[in-house]
Amino acid sequence: MGEFDLIRRYFQRPVRRAALGVGDDCALLAPAPGMQLAISSDMLVEGRHFFADVNPRLLGHKALAVNLSDLAASGARPLAFTLALSLPGADEAWISEFAAGLLTLADAHECELIGGDTTGGPLNICITVFGEVPAGQALLRSGARAGDEIWVSGTLGDARLALEAMLGHAPLPAELLQQARQRLEAPTPRVALGLALRGIASSALDVSDGLLGDLGHILELSSVGATVDSRCITPLMAAAAYPQSDAWQFDSKLQQQCTLAGGDDYELCFTAPAARHADVLAAGSASGTPVHPIGRIDAEPGLRVIDADGTLLQNRWKSFDHFGG
Ligand code: ADP
Ligand code: MG
Repeated sequence: MGEFDLIRRYFQRPVRRAALGVGDDCALLAPAPGMQLAISSDMLVEGRHFFADVNPRLLGHKALAVNLSDLAASGARPLAFTLALSLPGADEAWISEFAAGLLTLADAHECELIGGDTTGGPLNICITVFGEVPAGQALLRSGARAGDEIWVSGTLGDARLALEAMLGHAPLPAELLQQARQRLEAPTPRVALGLALRGIASSALDVSDGLLGDLGHILELSSVGATVDSRCITPLMAAAAYPQSDAWQFDSKLQQQCTLAGGDDYELCFTAPAARHADVLAAGSASGTPVHPIGRIDAEPGLRVIDADGTLLQNRWKSFDHFGG
């Protein structure tokens, strides 16, 4: 099957929102009056972001999910995306599964595939996503102020736990591994929460590289510091609820590392004035997304982490980047 047949068969669908979709030199997208376009790209490379034998349907889902997560972090509503695909061969069964995973998530968010590029080569997927947000209302990394509460959505650390297990570094019961792999391979972009936080959150980002490191980006761009309590964070791992036995005990250091610095979580970390506490909880329940307060923004620069025993791990959080160290 040639490139054009492949595109027509798997990636060309009736246009809904865009003025012009797949098939011409450019797609056309008309932003609504008073709206700004929110644009982000994420690339997934075999061997670096996923294993060669990953389930193609899950890969299609994840490729779009990580992009929608950026729109969520900006408080933008998804509109459309482009797909640049480098494929080692035209394995139709693989492409059909990949497209199914991708387009199912796209439909769930009414996010339209409007164009892209297809070429032979090592497996590589690059998506650019377009969203819209009322002018001036995008959630930025730069808006955190001293006294704001720091929040995180959902669960943290399970994706990293799955990765550690798959690399042979952390043996897990089969059922728990299955559950953790779900978080690694099929993350849930928090789009509804991002929309609900417009006008409430003072800053936001999505957690892709690990909570503490990513929170550092908010601190840097907002010129503030923070104190977070690891005792509020380590329990946020879904795997922490899994029953322990003589056969398997959860290593508490691994749990702390995965939740504080795991990566691949695609949850939102955001700040809001303490006076908006009830509004944040309401935004969480309106969007069906659990939200958890984990600390506070300080005027004093630096990130202070309260350890399990109540003492300060001051400025030592960077060491969590080096697992096993
Ligand atoms: P050009 O030669 O102008 O780069 P192409 O031949 O690469 O155009 O693509 C033809 C049409 O198919 C374009 O509208 C392009 O956006 C679309 N397209 C190509 N690859 C993909 C893809 N993987 N997914 C969606 N649309 C695609
Ligand atoms: Mg082209």
